[in-house]
Amino acid sequence: MDAEVLVVGAGPAGLATAACLQRKGIDALILDRGADVGDTWRSRYDRLHLHTPRIQSALPGLRMPAEYGRWVSKDDVADYLRRYARHHAILPRFRSEVRRLERHGGHWTALTDGGEVSARLVVLATGYANSALRPAWPGQETFGGDILHASEYRTATPYVGRNVLVVGAGNSGAEIAADLAAGGAGTVHLSVRTPPNVIPRQLGPLPTTLVAIPMDYSPAWLVDPVNRLLQRWTLGDLTRYGLPAPRAGLVAQARATGLTPTIDVGMVASLRAGRVMPVAAVERFDGGEVVLVDGSRLTPDAVIAATGYSTGLAPMVGHLGVLDHRGHPLVTGVRTLPSAPGLRFMGLSFPLKGQLLQINLDARAVARVVAAELRNS
Ligand SMILES: Cc1cc2nc3c(=O)[nH]c(=O)nc-3n(C[C@H](O)[C@H](O)[C@H](O)COP(=O)(O)OP(=O)(O)OC[C@H]3O[C@@H](n4cnc5c(N)ncnc54)[C@H](O)[C@@H]3O)c2cc1C
Repeated sequence: MDAEVLVVGAGPAGLATAACLQRKGIDALILDRGADVGDTWRSRYDRLHLHTPRIQSALPGLRMPAEYGRWVSKDDVADYLRRYARHHAILPRFRSEVRRLERHGGHWTALTDGGEVSARLVVLATGYANSALRPAWPGQETFGGDILHASEYRTATPYVGRNVLVVGAGNSGAEIAADLAAGGAGTVHLSVRTPPNVIPRQLGPLPTTLVAIPMDYSPAWLVDPVNRLLQRWTLGDLTRYGLPAPRAGLVAQARATGLTPTIDVGMVASLRAGRVMPVAAVERFDGGEVVLVDGSRLTPDAVIAATGYSTGLAPMVGHLGVLDHRGHPLVTGVRTLPSAPGLRFMGLSFPLKGQLLQINLDARAVARVVAAELRNS
């Protein structure tokens, strides 16, 4: 056996799990396909700051430095993750991509680029935003402009004076549209298929995601009417600016679809100023034109697909019967399935309280359960 516990992924979830295991005297082997801790965060768009406040975003055993401010920038998140790994003396093995997991004779074998690694227990912390989901629109090969995924967007600079269609009004799409509008792009259209529940980042002095913590534990029928009033009271009626009303309340939508609310960091001001214009969903491309489902046509110079991510888990563990039809794990955190004993998933649920806080809680719980399992085996 190469390790008692194998952790796949050295992002926040993998690092937090490794740190909590270490406190229990367990040295996990950590494999990561990247080149360094924090690289995923460093490579995100320039304007990005956490939507959860600093105090809600730290991992177990190390506070985020106060100089990061209330809303931590993406580079400071990357810096924090590096400090975190150093603080806990966590040394991941980089450039080691796990391709597949198999169970043989009571233990797990991970097939990696560099050979096989065996372990008694495995924690998969490979991120819900693992691989960009790029839509295949009919006719898109006939489009002469740029089509890129939101994960490839950095700044508005290349789009100054150019018309851009952003597809998807989730957190990335809404913020990228606002960034383009503020950064001098020409016309910015925002294509909306699933109308989002939009909420402000703060309610008065309070970060909204802090207020949202109890919502993870409340029935939608109880809290959604209050949410609807708060949304209306703080942001007004966004249908006046062409943004369709959400089909379900905030909590109901999040539970049914995994779509957490769109936290407003500039989109609403851009809508009010007429700098971002909502349009219908994309149906197809026709040469230089984009045809929308309502029959209207646009002629953008560039299309940015903020169309989400896949977990990338199917090739790795799809054969084990542990994923649902979307490729999301059937159980997360401490729970395991009888078909895959000792295999756990971290960072792969969609809590309203914020993923980082969920990771913090789950890492402690997973370490407790893993330590008990190793003691009893
Ligand atoms: C744009 C954006 C903004 C966000 N903002 C917030 C926020 O404000 N607050 C909040 O609480 N959450 C936020 N999140 C959600 C979440 O906290 C982050 O995605 C966080 O980075 C998740 O940590 P993770 O460790 O689960 O995944 P990741 O950070 O994605 O790390 C996964 C790691 O696994 C590695 N890996 C992947 N596949 C393999 C493989 N097959 N083999 C080996 N290694 C592999 C990757 O290289 C990576 O290092 C945000 C997410 C995004 C995308």
